[in-house]
Amino acid sequence: MSDFDTVLHPDHVVPIMPRRQVLSDHSVALKGGQIAAILPRSEALLIDVEHTPLPGCVLMPGLINLHCHSAMSLLRGYADDLSLMTWLQDYIWPTEREFISPDFVRDGSDLALADLLLGGTTTLADHYFFPDVTAASIDRAGLRGLLTFPVIDVETGWARNAEEGINRGLALRDDYRDHDRIDIGFGPHSTYMVKEETLAKVAVLADELEASVQIHLHESREEVLTAVERTGVRPVDLLERLGLLGPRTQCVHMTAIGEQDMETVAKYGAHVVHCPRSNLKLGVGICPVQRLLDLGINVALGTDGAASSNRLSMLAEMQTASLIGKTQHGDPTAVDAWTALEMATLAGARALGKEDTLGSIEPGKVADLIAINVSALPLSPNHNLASSLVYATSGQEVSWSWVAGKPLLQDGRLLTLDYTDLMTRAERWSQQLGAFRKTLES
Ligand SMILES: [Zn+2]
Repeated sequence: MSDFDTVLHPDHVVPIMPRRQVLSDHSVALKGGQIAAILPRSEALLIDVEHTPLPGCVLMPGLINLHCHSAMSLLRGYADDLSLMTWLQDYIWPTEREFISPDFVRDGSDLALADLLLGGTTTLADHYFFPDVTAASIDRAGLRGLLTFPVIDVETGWARNAEEGINRGLALRDDYRDHDRIDIGFGPHSTYMVKEETLAKVAVLADELEASVQIHLHESREEVLTAVERTGVRPVDLLERLGLLGPRTQCVHMTAIGEQDMETVAKYGAHVVHCPRSNLKLGVGICPVQRLLDLGINVALGTDGAASSNRLSMLAEMQTASLIGKTQHGDPTAVDAWTALEMATLAGARALGKEDTLGSIEPGKVADLIAINVSALPLSPNHNLASSLVYATSGQEVSWSWVAGKPLLQDGRLLTLDYTDLMTRAERWSQQLGAFRKTLES
């Protein structure tokens, strides 16, 4: 009997830890949903166990998408080329008021999860109404997730007010208390959609429960200026004042920030979640990633929802983060390929408080892995694997994925989601939503 359940044989392993290394002629052995060993190929082939050959592939940790609104995949391309506030107030919010329901969230989440798996994501942090429905979708599909339930001071289809949202969210947290792949945290939408007293309440509860908090923060100059007018301080300072900044806080976007804001984030050990494609598309600015990293701030990556970024491809986000990082700093060495790979893996795990168990290929960590085929012509020759993964992939190269050792994608085929069924459901929503969109414009 072998000590292992299965052994994977890729051409190369990119473990992320130790940093900036590529292992060739090595195999990865799994046992009980964990990474059990990284072995020289010659040794691994002698083990009497199930062997999985992965020719032409790089094996790396599954990508960690730290900011998504899965259900909004049904609104992909629904309202594009608009300012953030026009997009939200004239299109997204009226449509959500009309359509938000468990069915909408289930179909949108399932569609997103398939898209995410095909793009290499194995863990996501999601923020949307009916987080119970998305949690069930994530559970069925086999991914790992943090659901940050919405806290918002307006009535929604999910909760009449913030208090009801918090109560429903806490009940959901109880439901998933012992779940090994799903966590529940707080998702106050932003400082402009949540009252100070509600944010203060979230701070107390999250601290008591040691729960993650994710918030949209400093997404645009307009947001910052409005906050200063309304509260007298910048959004990040408001969070500091209310006790909502800390090592379990995930600040999403942070495009409109100055040196003082960065120092405040660094002082509290809060995390920044960079969503470059969404930021570029909404024209709200660019998060100064290299500067944040230089200050010791942990920066993870997210796709945001497909309603704003159109794709849920973490490979595309890595590429964009690296390219705009260089342009912004006027320095081609800024946000290099290895930095982008770390942001999409270990930095995400760190933001989730799971650095010890997730985000790299090390014995004892969970077997959340992806295999990316780098043997195709557009990626050849492969002088530098990190460069190929970040700069040359199109997002279509992910061929396998595993979460806790269980395969979810095999040779490009989804194992836990039905591709044809998802396409049928997407088409049905496309017709209903399309008809409603016409009424918004008339
Ligand atoms: Zn968002």
